[in-house]
Amino acid sequence: MNDVAAQMGVSMVAVWERARMFPEWGRELDEALLRGRDRKISHDSEWSYRVHRCRCPECREAKRRYR
Ligand SMILES: [Zn+2]
Repeated sequence: MNDVAAQMGVSMVAVWERARMFPEWGRELDEALLRGRDRKISHDSEWSYRVHRCRCPECREAKRRYR
């Protein structure tokens, strides 16, 4: 995901900012993240967010709960 953003020439901050400003686009982004996420790791997990750098909606939610 970070690699994709880098290839597009945008920062991840800009991606999440855009997702916040355009909820419809944010939903499409979440769906794409769910489809493209690594199936070899467990999700809905702060560990996967931090260690595997997974940014699927479930791992982002787990990160929110962890704080
Ligand atoms: Zn995940």
